[in-house]
Amino acid sequence: MTTGQPAADSSGTRRTTVPSGLTPVEHPAIIIRERGAFCVAEFEERGWACPSCSNRGGSVVRDEQGYEVFAPCGCTQTRRRMELFNQARIGVRYINATLESYEPKTADQVSAQRQALDFTKMYPGVNGGLVFWGAVGTGKTHLAVGIFRELTLRKGVGCRFVDYGNLLQDLKRSFGSRDGDSPVMLPLVHVELLVIDELGKGRNTEWEETVLDDLISRRYNAGRTTLCTTNYDASKSGHDGGQSSLNPAYQARGGFSAASGSIPHLEDRVGVRIFSRLCEMCEFVHVSGADFRKTGQGISRIR
Ligand SMILES: [Zn+2]
Repeated sequence: MTTGQPAADSSGTRRTTVPSGLTPVEHPAIIIRERGAFCVAEFEERGWACPSCSNRGGSVVRDEQGYEVFAPCGCTQTRRRMELFNQARIGVRYINATLESYEPKTADQVSAQRQALDFTKMYPGVNGGLVFWGAVGTGKTHLAVGIFRELTLRKGVGCRFVDYGNLLQDLKRSFGSRDGDSPVMLPLVHVELLVIDELGKGRNTEWEETVLDDLISRRYNAGRTTLCTTNYDASKSGHDGGQSSLNPAYQARGGFSAASGSIPHLEDRVGVRIFSRLCEMCEFVHVSGADFRKTGQGISRIR
């Protein structure tokens, strides 16, 4: 089931950074392997048993007063990080998608990679989320996966990565009524960072727009960070789009080229309210350029 060429160690170190109260534990490097259609993060050494807790998650120790207490082991923190990554069910296409492995081919892409790196480095000290927008195949999902991978595995950020189509399907399945507190909705509202891939894709019914509006608004009110990718035009030209004080760079750009001018606008896909909220919550990053998947290696790097 392995790819034969596992991605580089994503943890960066074999010693987990653990909050106080947890014992640091030496563990094998974390690697990303292919399992079926998805990528999974695992210890490089399969079947590794923690020398500190024998995979029990901790041990019983005596505290200063002589009471027996359960002391969680540092390996639980690392396992939690891998679990966060694995819950996302990232497709195998992105097995090697890191921010470093993204190869920019246009000036916009150079800038997008820089913003993704800065966001990841600064997090949680960021002003808001990001919306990567642009034509199909420019590497927006690669950047989003790269951020997600860094934040979950290296920083241990509570982070969810969802495909927009699957998100709507899951929400639909879980709702018996229009009650906004379904078991699917609540974790999405409360998770620290939510990544929505391919925002606006598919047919949006009024119901879907209402549910998405509810989710985005509640995250907005809770001050949670949201990151999106979208293949739709998210430029401001021709659309009022609300107050986007966060995104001067995005305002300066003209949107899609004439060749792709027929691409619908994100605001038309998700509705005025959601688009307007996103403008307040996120910096918009245009990822323009030729389709990576179609051009392959045919285009040289900008620098
Ligand atoms: Zn342990």
